[in-house]
Amino acid sequence: MLFCNETDSGSCRDPKGCRLPTGAESREKSWKGAVTVARTDNGSPADGAVSDGDRWLRINWHKAVKIVSRLQTRIVKAVRAGDARRSRGLRRILANSRAARLMAVRRVTSNRGKRTAGVDGVRLKTPASRWQEAGKLNSPGYRPKPLRRIYIPRKNGKKRPLGIPAMRDRSEQAAELSALDPVAECTADMHSYGFRKKRSVHDAIEACYNALRLKGSAKWVLEADIKGCFDNISHRRMTDNVPTSKEKLRLWLKAGYMERGMFSPTETGTPQGGIISPTLANMALDGMEKLLRDKFGKTHKIHLVRYADDFIITGATKELLENEVKPLIAEFLKERGLGLSEEKTKISHIDDGFDFLGFNIRKYRGKLMTRPAKSAIASVKEKIREIVRANATAKTENLIGQLNPVIRGWANHFRHVVSSKIFGSIDHAIWEKTWRWAKRRHPDKSLPWIKSKYFQREGNRKWVFREKGRKFALFKMADVPIRRHVKIRADANPYDPEWEEYFRERETKSHKRNVKDKSGGLWVRQNGICPICHTILNEEEEWDIHHLIPKSEGGDDSMANLALVHISCHREYHRYGSVAGCLTVSYQCPSRMKGNFHVRFFGGEGAVMR
Ligand SMILES: [Zn+2]
Repeated sequence: MLFCNETDSGSCRDPKGCRLPTGAESREKSWKGAVTVARTDNGSPADGAVSDGDRWLRINWHKAVKIVSRLQTRIVKAVRAGDARRSRGLRRILANSRAARLMAVRRVTSNRGKRTAGVDGVRLKTPASRWQEAGKLNSPGYRPKPLRRIYIPRKNGKKRPLGIPAMRDRSEQAAELSALDPVAECTADMHSYGFRKKRSVHDAIEACYNALRLKGSAKWVLEADIKGCFDNISHRRMTDNVPTSKEKLRLWLKAGYMERGMFSPTETGTPQGGIISPTLANMALDGMEKLLRDKFGKTHKIHLVRYADDFIITGATKELLENEVKPLIAEFLKERGLGLSEEKTKISHIDDGFDFLGFNIRKYRGKLMTRPAKSAIASVKEKIREIVRANATAKTENLIGQLNPVIRGWANHFRHVVSSKIFGSIDHAIWEKTWRWAKRRHPDKSLPWIKSKYFQREGNRKWVFREKGRKFALFKMADVPIRRHVKIRADANPYDPEWEEYFRERETKSHKRNVKDKSGGLWVRQNGICPICHTILNEEEEWDIHHLIPKSEGGDDSMANLALVHISCHREYHRYGSVAGCLTVSYQCPSRMKGNFHVRFFGGEGAVMR
C-alpha cells in the first residue's frame, strides 16, 4: 500500500495519510504500479484515484529522512568496523531505497540550479513529474546524457566552462551520493573543509589560524595550486578507489559534453556541475594528510589545511617545504593524474602573509591577523559600482533592494575576522557612490535639498541612505558585529550518531547568536524544524520566511505571524496549499520549561498541546 496510517504523530497532514509505506513488507511493493495506477485515457487520474502530483505532495519527508539517516548510520558503523562487504550491501540498499530516490529528486529540484535544464531541456517543475522521475531512478539500462556546456565569466575576464547534467542524471547522482557520502566522511582528511557537510570556509580559516597563531608556530607556508584539478583527475584512479557503483561512475565520467550541438568526449576529470563531483574530487585528494604525518610525524610544524583543490601546508623552514614537502606532494598528485602549477605555487613567510579562500592571513609584529583579501574587497566594490551604474534612473527602493543583499552577504561572510575597519571603509565608498548617484539625478537642486530627500538621520547617524517618507534603508556593514567563528571539531562526523548531540548543540548555538536576525530567532523558536515537511532546516536547502496570516489578509511582520520554512515547501504550500494540508508550527514555551513544546495547527482546529 502506498500510504501509511501514521495519524498519531502530528506530522501527517491528512487523515488519508502520509506517503511512505510503514514497514519493510511494503517496501518491495511495485513502485511502478504505484506511479501508474488508475489513469484514464487522457492521462488524468480516474475518479477516486490519487494523482501522481498528490502523491508527491503527500510524501512524509520526516519518515524518508529517518529511513535514509538510519541506513547512513549503519554504513558508518560498517566502515568503522572494517566490514567492506556489509558496507557495500548497505550502500546498495540505500541507493535503491524509495526514500533515497525521493529525497534525491527533492534535492535536485529544490537547490539553486533547479532552473537550469540539462541537454534534454527537462526541468521537473510539477509535483507529478517529480514523483514519476523518482520512480524511474535506478532502472536497468540507464545511460546518462552528455552534459550541456555553458561558460560563466571569471574575475579575470576569462570564462570558465561548466557542465550541466540532465535532471535525471543529477537525481541518479544524488541518490548514489547519499550512500557514498557517509563513507567519504569516514575516510576524509581531518583538515579538509571544502564541499563537506557542516564544514565551511570559516572552519578552514580557523584551522589556519590555529596552525599559525602562536609565537612558536610555523613561519613558512606553502600555497599550493593544482593545475586544472577537476579537469585532470584520472578516471582510472577514481573507478578503482571510490566505493560506489562502478558501472554508473564509469558512465558519468565518460558522459562527455555538448557544445553548440557538437558532442565532445571526456577522457579525464570529474564532470563539473555534477552533484557527486566535489565528493569524488575530495576522495581523490584524501590521504595527503596521512602521507605528511607518516613522513614527518609531529615534527617540523607541518600542518595541512585543504578546501577542495585549494590547500596550504605550513612548515618550520623554507628549505623543508621546498625540498621535501613539495616533491612529496607533487608525487602524490602525479599518481592521480594531477600536478602543481609552477607559477602559482608559492612559499611565503608568515610576516609577508598569504591569501587563502578570499582571506589574507599575516603576522603583524608577532600577532596573527586574518582579514578580507584585497581581491575580495576590490570585487565587492566593483559589484556595488556596477549596481549603482545600472540603476542610474531606477527608483531609490529598487537600488537599495539590489544593494542590500550584496552588502549584507559580504559582511556576513567576513564577520568572523578582523574586518571592522574594512567594513567602515567600504561603507564610506558606498556612501560616496550613492551621494554621487543622488546628485546626478537632480542637477538643478541644492545640495541640502538632495541630502534631505535621500539621506535621513537615524539615531546618531546623519547619512542613512533612505528616501524621505520611505521605510526601506540601505544596510551598513558596520552594523554587523565581529564575532570569532567556532571551528568544527576536526574528527566530527555528521553521519555518526555519537556526534549528533555535538552538531545539534553547535547549530543551536550559532543560531542563538543570530537571534536578533529574524531567521535566527525563528530557527531557535522552531527548534530547527520546517513546519511544513517536519524535517530539519539545514544549509542543504534554502529557507524562506512564511507569513501565517498572509499580508494581503492583514497579516503583519511580527515574529508571531512568521514561520521559517524550506523554499521548496513554501512554494508548494502556496501553489498546492489545499493538498499540502495544514501547517504545524511548534515553538518553545516562553516559560523556558525544558521539553515544553506548544504546537499550533494552522488551518486545523485551533491550538493543540503536545
Ligand atoms: Zn520543509
